[in-house]
Amino acid sequence: MNSKKGIAILGSTGSIGTQALEVLESYPDYFDLQVLTAGKNADLLIEQALKYHPNSVVISDESLYQKVKDALWNQDIHVYAGEQALCQVVESNEVDTVLTALVGYAGLKPTIHAIEAGKTIALANKETLVVAGELITKLAKEKGVNIYPVDSEHSAIFQCLVGEFQNPIEKIYLTASGGPFRGFTHDQLKSVSLAQALKHPNWSMGAKITIDSASLMNKGLEVIEAKWLFGLQTNQIDVIVHPQSIVHSLVQFEDGSMKAQMGLPDMKLPIQFALTFPKRLPTNFPRFNFLDYPQLTFEAPDRNVFKNLDLAFKVMDLQGTAACSLNAANEVAVDAFLQEKISFLEIAEINEAVVESASNFLSPSYEQYVLADQLAREKARELIQKA
Ligand code: NDP
Ligand code: MG
Repeated sequence: MNSKKGIAILGSTGSIGTQALEVLESYPDYFDLQVLTAGKNADLLIEQALKYHPNSVVISDESLYQKVKDALWNQDIHVYAGEQALCQVVESNEVDTVLTALVGYAGLKPTIHAIEAGKTIALANKETLVVAGELITKLAKEKGVNIYPVDSEHSAIFQCLVGEFQNPIEKIYLTASGGPFRGFTHDQLKSVSLAQALKHPNWSMGAKITIDSASLMNKGLEVIEAKWLFGLQTNQIDVIVHPQSIVHSLVQFEDGSMKAQMGLPDMKLPIQFALTFPKRLPTNFPRFNFLDYPQLTFEAPDRNVFKNLDLAFKVMDLQGTAACSLNAANEVAVDAFLQEKISFLEIAEINEAVVESASNFLSPSYEQYVLADQLAREKARELIQKA
């Protein structure tokens, strides 16, 4: 029997995926890398496969299958392509934990398959819980599957809760760096460029989450993610801007005591904790020094200027597929912004217009999530054409 933990990394060519590989590389006796997957970056997937020798690789873009297959022809590695393969590959008996590091709605279906197959989930792909939190948490409960957060704020909350299982949460505070436009007025935001939006002050991440961080949509998505991960009501979740990104989030208990988790901003730590929980393995990551940070500051987010955060609270109260529609609109709008088809402020305008016009399916089935996603994408594209 294999005593190592079998790991599948969905989205190994991305920011989280590559950092996860660095973590796995540090503990060869602890992890057994089983699966790597990429969207379009065949070159990096091939390089990773040759270096780490997983059991299987998947390239989602089927037109790149032959390229990957040819490059790995003399390796003992299964090569697959397409969306269906992504779902099947996580079901392998050798896989214990699936790290979902795909970006966006694409993460939903493989995550459902992984849960159905009883795999532990290390969840980076927050959109999965935003889109279908109700369905995912119900399914995970039915299957007895644990979902461990990778997102740094949720990892912080999770770390604060270790040993507190009998003690209810009164409230949580998710910290936000505020992004590159912290303190900007609505007028100042009218003329910000793509290059400015892509410059996050504290974290280096994929393009989509970087734009979401600049628009505070990321914090909105995280509020919804926290609701599902920790079973909270809207009024138990608050957001506080903390530009230094040292306090990664806080929990307040019913006696008024607050616990925070702190450290230098480095995603490898929450990735590792999600993969090794309940163990903490030693690292040589740089340590936090108080004297380098004589001031840790906190301020309220500006929800009038950064409307996406308000929208997230709104869809949480609407329930059903409202958050799914918001997520779909945002994916389309961010993509259009990345292609410089719309301005920064138009992202939130499109999101708001789509949420206002979307039908809301309550207690949705999987098919209704798919439909809500599709309708919201169509509406967002129509609005972008007119913009
Ligand atoms: P990246 O854009 O860097 O990576 C995304 C990965 O998903 C890549 O491997 C990409 O493949 C793959 N991918 C993208 N679209 C598809 C698709 N349609 N089908 C199959 N594969 C696809 O994103 P990040 O690593 O930054 O983020 C991943 C997730 O983690 C997101 O949900 C994000 O919100 C979350 N997260 C990220 C953090 C970070 O620090 N980066 C922090 C907290 C959460 P390829 O490049 O080969 O096309
Ligand atoms: Mg985060």
